[in-house]
Amino acid sequence: MSISFEEMNITAPILRAVKDMGFEEPSPIQEKAIEPALSGRDIIGQAQTGTGKTAAFSIPVLEKVDPKNKATQAIILCPTRELAIQVAEEIRKLAKYLHGIKVLPIYGGQEISHQIRSLKGGVQVIIGTPGRVMDHMRRRTLRLDDVSMVVLDEADEMLNMGFREDIETILSEVPKERQTMLFSATMPKPIMDIVHEYQNDPQLIRVVKKELTVPKIEQYYYEVKAKNKPEALSRLLDMYNPKLSLVFCNTKKQVDELVDELKGRGYFAEALHGDLKQEHRDRVMKRFRTGLTDILVATDVAARGIDVDDVEAVFNYDVPQDDEYYVHRIGRTGRAGRDGRAHTFVVGREIYKLKDIMRYCKTKIKLAPIPTIDDVTNNKIENILDRLEDVMRENDLTKYIDYIDNRVNESDYTSNDLAAAFLKMVMGDEETGEDDINSDTEYYEKTGAENGMARLFINIGKDNKVRPGDILGAIAGESGMPGKLVGTIDMYDKYTFVEVPVEHARRVINAMSKAKIKGKSVSIEPANAKK
Ligand code: ADP
Repeated sequence: MSISFEEMNITAPILRAVKDMGFEEPSPIQEKAIEPALSGRDIIGQAQTGTGKTAAFSIPVLEKVDPKNKATQAIILCPTRELAIQVAEEIRKLAKYLHGIKVLPIYGGQEISHQIRSLKGGVQVIIGTPGRVMDHMRRRTLRLDDVSMVVLDEADEMLNMGFREDIETILSEVPKERQTMLFSATMPKPIMDIVHEYQNDPQLIRVVKKELTVPKIEQYYYEVKAKNKPEALSRLLDMYNPKLSLVFCNTKKQVDELVDELKGRGYFAEALHGDLKQEHRDRVMKRFRTGLTDILVATDVAARGIDVDDVEAVFNYDVPQDDEYYVHRIGRTGRAGRDGRAHTFVVGREIYKLKDIMRYCKTKIKLAPIPTIDDVTNNKIENILDRLEDVMRENDLTKYIDYIDNRVNESDYTSNDLAAAFLKMVMGDEETGEDDINSDTEYYEKTGAENGMARLFINIGKDNKVRPGDILGAIAGESGMPGKLVGTIDMYDKYTFVEVPVEHARRVINAMSKAKIKGKSVSIEPANAKK
């Protein structure tokens, strides 16, 4: 049994935040790195991206920052702006119940004056790209006198990107009395040089891997946007129609959210995770085993004990944090010689984690497209037609043929018309129109819209005496979308840009095409994509 977060020397506010984040147990790198890091040792952590490194170094950093001292005390260097933002977000979540700790990401590409203003207010934890951190050091807008912790995250990536000199300059200007933690997926010589030069008797932490046998089942992965995961999962469930499915999420929170989402979409899904009482879990398992529930959404820990033989599909809704988890998860299907399929959703950089899993597990996971709505429909029809063949084979249909003959003789319909209408009825309401779940999102990303938002252009502005409130009111009023979902409204003299969630964009455009704002007909369209 592995050690729990509660058994580590972590104080209550952080434990509470970890719980809120839904982490059920420490990932392997967290289990090994947190305690030595808390004790102040230098650390070399060899771990891939997506293994939970951020919390592994951030928990110790947050435990040691002195909130009464406004000076910068920890610097975390990351290779890219995306990573810096991501790490800062994770740290903010972990620091939710700590008071007086300020965290700021600083990276190239963002107005430096903004950053300077924020830095002036006193920031104890800086997450930055090396170039930008150097820039602030040179301008003296960032002082290192009180820095006692430095983290190099994805050190090999930073070297690949040519940051070696910057990193060395930063390390040599931070006071010598400090803790240095270095994380890297690989340990080539240049990394070891940095270790020797700038670390003091570091503890090497690696997640040792056991030899694993991967079950021989078909494995696919899908590149998706995080917000499209529920739709992607629904389509795969509809397409393959597995008898029993196990869906794995990394956190309890995600498990609960997904179960609500699936229930809302009309699936019989239930949650299984460590917050549930044993009796409750037993009941859930019983319903799953007997097929009353056909989708079980679980965390790795909760799924450990279960044994059900006819799971036809395993979905990795989140890429697992550890290669071993992947093997455990997919081992739940294809048992007892049955066919099984494993499906994994991959968002952005998680592809590296998946490649690592493939390499280490010596298994091939094939990239597949998310089925389109047409694919799902075709497949459903094929299934129904297949079932009809069974019905024809196994039953005497004379009586029914008579009904059909009568109808055909009395009307202008052919038996084909009747069969087609029947099929339509059996299929129920099919969605139409809206297709590929990624195409709109991809377009709007290029318009400079915020993540998940669509930037729209409207041909009226300040010169027409309209105010942002008028635009918001018109959009909410005409489209029925709640006004609070409207994002930024940028008004210029002759036109305005407004952001709405991508999934509502088409509806807003359609509704507004007939609308008037302050008595003026308007035209609204997607903003132009930037080159
Ligand atoms: P890395 O820094 O190694 O690339 P992250 O720290 O960003 O990986 O972790 C990847 C994801 O896993 C994040 O969404 C994070 O919130 C989540 N995570 C981290 N630790 C745990 C844990 N112990 N249990 C569940 N999820 C976790």
